[in-house]
Amino acid sequence: MSVLRVRGRALPSGEPVDLYADGDRWTTDPVPGAELVAEGWLLPGLVDAHTHPGAEELGRPLDPAILRADLQRHAAAGVALIRSPGLAGDPPEWFGHDPDLPRAVHAGPWIAQHGQFFDGWGRRASHADLPALAATQAAASGWAKLIADWGPDDDPIPAGVLRAVVEAVHAVGGRVAVHSQNASGGAAAVTAGVDSLEHGMCLDPALLSQMASQGTALTPTLSVITGSLARRRTQPDTPRNRWYVGGASAHPALSAAAVEAGVVVLAGTDSRPHGRVADEVRALAAAGVPPHEALGAASWSARSYLGLPGLEPGAPADAVVYDTDPRLDLTTLDKPRAVVLRGRLVT
Ligand SMILES: [Zn+2]
Repeated sequence: MSVLRVRGRALPSGEPVDLYADGDRWTTDPVPGAELVAEGWLLPGLVDAHTHPGAEELGRPLDPAILRADLQRHAAAGVALIRSPGLAGDPPEWFGHDPDLPRAVHAGPWIAQHGQFFDGWGRRASHADLPALAATQAAASGWAKLIADWGPDDDPIPAGVLRAVVEAVHAVGGRVAVHSQNASGGAAAVTAGVDSLEHGMCLDPALLSQMASQGTALTPTLSVITGSLARRRTQPDTPRNRWYVGGASAHPALSAAAVEAGVVVLAGTDSRPHGRVADEVRALAAAGVPPHEALGAASWSARSYLGLPGLEPGAPADAVVYDTDPRLDLTTLDKPRAVVLRGRLVT
């Protein structure tokens, strides 16, 4: 089997690179007879930092066959790494390790308060039991995901409880991701110092500077949140609809302001179908995020946030190659010249 080689300009720096895959590691040491599989503009793989593969409908159990098909769609789109902040069950052994599928970090099943979140999905606990449950999950997989708030009239998890969760999870070396779509839940999460805020709809923009300084990342899932706005605007003017339309309408500006404030922003697609992280990059750019930063949110920035280096010697051998600089035309993301995962070509 010949050694795979890629060459071109590597983002984020744009510097020329010429890389050989030594198994699952990049090296600059030339290998005679290596096969040049693509030349162009290189990213260290795309990252979808908020995706829930493996269940076709809300509340359904994790299905390994659906999980595999969903991950194949991610890989074909150039995604080399996903983070699943919540899964429909504990994933099979091969999740994140199958040579043909993206690397993965995950938080296991969601953790929510009694009476909140989708029926059939996630684990529920009292406030007193949340820290231990979250720490057990994070000790197993590195992350715990909590639903800080749910409907617009539901009470969020109090900041003090979330702070106890953060302390318990950090004590086992894990990280905490928190779902929020209400101002009160978002404020509680930021006050508690969670590691990443998911959605962050209705968040007070005044909290963005605190997020930046304490290192709380934001995954705005912008394309899915704004995707239903047109339909929502035609629906009857109920308090619930007013909440959603108000929050979703403000979400593009909030996402751009987060980047501006120096918050680590991660691209995530949340819902089905899978393999659409390019749509999220374009949504961020349309919201006013510079294309370089919008792309970084779905590649090098997210990869670094999740602990993987970029295109450099010794790094895991992932890459996605485009004919032209994708920052100049983000539709380029739909046409990767080559996708390399663990030193192998994804076909
Ligand atoms: Zn989600």
